[in-house]
Amino acid sequence: MKILVVGSGGREHALTWKLRESQHMDEIYCAPGNAGIAQEAECLPVDASRPQEILELAKGLKADLTVIGPEASLVAGVVDEFEREGLWAVGPTKAAARLEGSKIFAKQFMQRHRIPTARFVVAERLEDALQALGGFGLPVVIKGDGLAAGKGVVVARSREEAEKTLVEFMHEKTLGSAGERVVIEECLSGEELSYIVLTDGQGVLALAPTQDHKAVFDNDQGPNTGGMGAYSEDSILTERERDYVLRRIVSPTLVGMAAEGTPYRGFLYVGLMMTAEGPRVLEYNVRMGDPEAQPIMMRLRSDLVELFKGIHDGQLGAMEAHWSPNPSVCVVLTSQGYPGKPEVGKEITGLEAAESQGGVKVFHAGTQFRDLQLLTAGGRVLGVTATAEDLPSTIERAYAAVSKIHFEGMHYRSDIGAKGLRRMGRGLGTSNPATRRIPNSPKL
Ligand code: AMP
Repeated sequence: MKILVVGSGGREHALTWKLRESQHMDEIYCAPGNAGIAQEAECLPVDASRPQEILELAKGLKADLTVIGPEASLVAGVVDEFEREGLWAVGPTKAAARLEGSKIFAKQFMQRHRIPTARFVVAERLEDALQALGGFGLPVVIKGDGLAAGKGVVVARSREEAEKTLVEFMHEKTLGSAGERVVIEECLSGEELSYIVLTDGQGVLALAPTQDHKAVFDNDQGPNTGGMGAYSEDSILTERERDYVLRRIVSPTLVGMAAEGTPYRGFLYVGLMMTAEGPRVLEYNVRMGDPEAQPIMMRLRSDLVELFKGIHDGQLGAMEAHWSPNPSVCVVLTSQGYPGKPEVGKEITGLEAAESQGGVKVFHAGTQFRDLQLLTAGGRVLGVTATAEDLPSTIERAYAAVSKIHFEGMHYRSDIGAKGLRRMGRGLGTSNPATRRIPNSPKL
């Protein structure tokens, strides 16, 4: 098969790396890709936000399978374009991708289908939004309706901050059209987890559970980013919790989407808060997570093309994926300035040394080659991903590899996976499994 991967981040590098191993792979391409992906696949230019361009590229390549990484391509309707031409692309249609493309759609959908989520109101006018604040305590969460590359959610700790955010989003239009309409919702507390599945619309194949680290500094301090690292380890969710999330959240989501005439296929990512009242949906994403893809692909032993075929043929429910029992950890290295404007163009060194020990793979995100030099080219630069027999040695291996890499202004969190250690009772403090309760008899 000729395979095309669309996107240019660490997620797409991890997907390309895994797809390259497939027994079905004859040729693999990535568009637009990055300097790391270029070592594993031929990279071609494309504007990933333009469905027609992606389609033309796939047609030109005679790609048998196109895997869409970024949400912007999916929300813009790339899968619909492929379907019209009878071509195969992995991902939801434009209508189904509204689960991520519109927070208002997602929240109202959850309300219609009784899927547990935070209490909320929708506001289309600034004065209504300001007035609605009165119905919430503090902190209060404000979300711009549209895609905003991780910048559209503010957890406001004071009334002034909430009001200022609403004025910025709705009046000053700091998010462009993405913030013209907003969701205001109650702030939930608990442990945050990502639960990602592959689905053909009915059948579901759950991927290994992961935990993301969104804040820029250790101990979840500082502003949110696209993701500073993630790890995957089976004890992140108990059997009972997995079962609850599948029955009470994933399944009603798929049934609801089908009932509304917009069946959902592809990766479905559910961002969860494990509250004292049980799991609540924070958000849906309509694609694989970044950086969750890196630790997940590191543990996946099955042929990823086979799993995609399961979606295509509607056979996913009968399939199983095989996983390495060993955990994996991805530490993201970022440029100075991120998540604000990053300083780019810095030379990167030490990658060979980092990968020289076994069990380490450095996935690229914002990198480029210029005059035979590897340079930084974005906020998130590299995802140093490791695996070993247990979580403590995996974390140690990942950070040993990180210590070999250098570029000016390089920043990373030093506590990726620490919540997992605490869960295992190895770290200081408690990672609140005691506050994680699964209601006994979910009403279905
Ligand atoms: P979202 O894009 O909706 O997942 O929001 C981004 C981040 O904001 C999440 O990963 C959470 O850390 C935080 N967040 C979103 N909604 C809430 C909420 N209702 N309560 C507390 N934190 C939230």
